[in-house]
Amino acid sequence: MHKKLFIPGPTEVREEILKAQSRWMIGHRSKEFGELYHRCVTRTAQALGTKNHVMWFTSSGTGCMEGALRNLVTGKVLHTVNGAFSDRWFKISKACGKQAARVDVEWGRAVKPEMIDAELAKGGYQALTVTHNETSTGVRQPIEDIARMMRDKYPDVLVLVDAVSSLMGDWFDIDALGLDVVVASSQKAVALPPGLAVAVVSQRALDKCRTVADRGYYFDYDAMLKRYDKDHQTPTTPAVSLFWALDAELDRIIAETMPKRYERHLAMARFTREWAKKHFALFAEPGYESVTLTTAANTRGISVKDLNAGLAAKGMQISNGYGDLKEKTFRIAHMGDLTMDDMKEVTGAIAEVLGL
Ligand code: PMP
Repeated sequence: MHKKLFIPGPTEVREEILKAQSRWMIGHRSKEFGELYHRCVTRTAQALGTKNHVMWFTSSGTGCMEGALRNLVTGKVLHTVNGAFSDRWFKISKACGKQAARVDVEWGRAVKPEMIDAELAKGGYQALTVTHNETSTGVRQPIEDIARMMRDKYPDVLVLVDAVSSLMGDWFDIDALGLDVVVASSQKAVALPPGLAVAVVSQRALDKCRTVADRGYYFDYDAMLKRYDKDHQTPTTPAVSLFWALDAELDRIIAETMPKRYERHLAMARFTREWAKKHFALFAEPGYESVTLTTAANTRGISVKDLNAGLAAKGMQISNGYGDLKEKTFRIAHMGDLTMDDMKEVTGAIAEVLGL
């Protein structure tokens, strides 16, 4: 049975996008693939309004998080940590042997510029990582304020942003904010199946990567761009079927336009937050709630597991809290191609199951 996904990834994928993957296979060294990949790259840049380099990798988002560190960091890197995925970036740094430091903020609260400033003021940092949308807690970092502070006070420190669960749903201006790397996965607000990840890379980051001798192989930005410039292909075998799906989804994104897509996400977020406030409470610090998912604090002490079993019978699925937040919170995603009608449907179904 088809269960409509209201979980923060993988998100619900439209049938026509699923079907776009079922074309006959083509060789990845064909002109046809070059044209397909080129369309995906140029139209992603168009949708995001960026002049930075767009690279789609056959990987999940974590690969691109690791890739950013491998390509760019040879010295100290500062990680802001306020949830499971921001913590993951720190762990990746450690696993790659980087000189990683962290600024810890309580889960549920947002990272603010002054918290970062205090640590960066000690000096010697090459890069900062920020998780725009902490999917484990439903907290959105004030990326505009953070980027402004970085430009004013630490213009030489590269800013690396995990927008895995927000890109193509929530909105920020990559170029105006001077962000050096923005990474995202296909299975979140892009509304595709899992398997692709994007890195949007500034020119200065590209220049820096070219000076890093041991920048790795699979995620080497320079190699990606050299191959792209040659024939619009990728250095290794890409997930061709997923690129058909991306091409089809980009048709939708360009037709809807990014401002409207963002407005749709914001409207769904506002609706879901109001619903959660009425029946439960919001987990995120007020003013920093995610635009792509809502985390409700389980103030009624319901069994989230049982709730999801009840929803499954109605053909829907939401998410329990993440890690230690299991049963203490639950998460309703409103990302990708979901609509306000979907949000009315799922909140109505939750109310029915719980007898609210
Ligand atoms: N960062 C964030 C904010 C995420 O939500 C996730 C996935 N839930 C990841 C990173 C990891 O992405 P992936 O599973 O695509 O590797």
